[in-house]
Amino acid sequence: MKDCPHCEYRGRPRLQPAWLLWLALLVWLVPLGFLTAGFWPFLLLPSIAISAWALMAVRPVCPQCGRRWKVSAPPGA
Ligand SMILES: [Zn+2]
Repeated sequence: MKDCPHCEYRGRPRLQPAWLLWLALLVWLVPLGFLTAGFWPFLLLPSIAISAWALMAVRPVCPQCGRRWKVSAPPGA
């Protein structure tokens, strides 16, 4: 059972910022649109870069206090 270490919230964390996930999805519409139209998928590499950056930037936070959700405890802690 996961709990917030900062407050007494019990439940699932929230991913934030959520708009980065939508941006990572929306940016793929451009190269996929070119691909389905039979053209070379422009912006394919930037789309991969933006998606990778968004996945690294998005982290779980507590929906009640807004602080970072506890990640897996480092060894020795
Ligand atoms: Zn909390």
